[in-house]
Amino acid sequence: MSKNLTTRSEDYSKWYNELVVKADLAENSGVRGCMVIKPSGYAIWEKMQAELDRMFKETGHSNAYFPLFVPKSMFEAEEKNAEGFAKECAIVTHYRLKNDPDKPGKLMVDPNAKLEEELIVRPTSEAIIWSTYKGWVQSYRDLPLLINQWANVVRWEMRTRLFLRTAEFLWQEGHTAHATKDEAIEESEKMMHVYADFVENFMAIPVIKGLKTETERFAGAEETYCIEALMQDGKALQAGTSHFLGQNFAKAFDVKFANAEGKQEYVWGTSWGVSTRLMGALVMTHSDDKGLVLPPNLAPIQVVIVPIFKTDEELEIISKVVNELVSAFKKIKIAVKFDNRTTQKPGFKFAEWELKGVPVRIAVGPKDLENGTFEVARRDTLSKEIISKDSVVSYINDLLDQIQKDLFDKALDYRENHITEVDSFEEFKEVLENKGGFVAAHWDGTAETEEKIKELTKATIRCIPLNRVEVSGKCMYTGAESTGRVLFAKAY
Ligand code: AMP
Repeated sequence: MSKNLTTRSEDYSKWYNELVVKADLAENSGVRGCMVIKPSGYAIWEKMQAELDRMFKETGHSNAYFPLFVPKSMFEAEEKNAEGFAKECAIVTHYRLKNDPDKPGKLMVDPNAKLEEELIVRPTSEAIIWSTYKGWVQSYRDLPLLINQWANVVRWEMRTRLFLRTAEFLWQEGHTAHATKDEAIEESEKMMHVYADFVENFMAIPVIKGLKTETERFAGAEETYCIEALMQDGKALQAGTSHFLGQNFAKAFDVKFANAEGKQEYVWGTSWGVSTRLMGALVMTHSDDKGLVLPPNLAPIQVVIVPIFKTDEELEIISKVVNELVSAFKKIKIAVKFDNRTTQKPGFKFAEWELKGVPVRIAVGPKDLENGTFEVARRDTLSKEIISKDSVVSYINDLLDQIQKDLFDKALDYRENHITEVDSFEEFKEVLENKGGFVAAHWDGTAETEEKIKELTKATIRCIPLNRVEVSGKCMYTGAESTGRVLFAKAY
């Protein structure tokens, strides 16, 4: 383990890449744009999955699984969706290789094994799922259909970054079908709130709920709800999306139901997803120059105990005390690890667990045994305290809650200090350049202006916040009428 991580102020992007690799979360693979998620990273993802899965089930959804491949004609059925994803999809054209007669030991595509119809590797599953729903929905009694799928998808991204943007990524995608428009809108809003609840309370990342503009909307959706987070370098990150699909997919796949009066109607749809990108958000929101900082709710190890000893006898005595402590933690479901390796020095272990972001470290040496105490260190603030043996379990139980809350408050404080209102394009550029963060500005509502601003500054409209105040103003770029401010930012 090499100690020195590039600092955030030196090079934020390099810091992120190094940290993801050094903290053993993930690494680049031999496959272009695709990553290997390592056990330490996957353990965090599994905790996210478990909590989200619980939340989805609590809101009435069931899991199912659909195929990885989508026949091209099926993919094309919803035109806007197809057009949107056509630019970044992988296509299977053949089903067999054969020995290359000109290159011994090499294989070539067998020209006789061409598929009659190409298969698209799913970039998202609306097409395959709605083609299935056609067979599942006949009457209003079959609705709503509330399905979620945990899967991988492929989008042929040109510029990839570990977790934040990969060509293959893991996600969940919810796909629901409803009898009425209102019910479908309610569902898409509900799932945006579920995401916000998860990201804020579990990941300790504050988010802004909003609507995407038409340009940024999901291809094939009538409306895209989103949650947007702000990273420590002042760039925004789309943390989750929930789409109201109208009847677009129902019409494309002829999914109709007989209503209570026996009349045929098209079904209303939603889809919603969060991905392994959330791992990137986690790293970029809380971590520091020493490594990862994990919120206790997501930390696979919440407390690590490091013994300080010189002799085997000392370790033995310490181990007795620690083993009792470990049992006490386990009883109240605190994930604890006793790092009793004899191959590494305490200093090395401290640095390693700091790098890996374990929220609380307990150190215990002969002095502590004498005094009946433990040294308790917080990863987030790096502060230390001496705590008596009798109260240490309840102290740490409370401390984990406190750390969870403090991490959220710190991130919220940063976010609140990085929402700047501007009224002119000059000011806008100045804030983007020197401060970053969200910039709240009036916009004339046209895609042309949005595009022009993006071209000139790289900033995009992250969202039209749901809680925005409707006030008339003048577009900062064109001076045309506007009904309220939208949030711009440079984004990942
Ligand atoms: P979408 O289907 O485009 O609404 O995206 C669903 C979720 O996946 C959103 O939370 C996106 O931020 C995330 N996402 C989109 N593209 C990628 C990618 N290339 N890598 C990781 N996550 C992604």
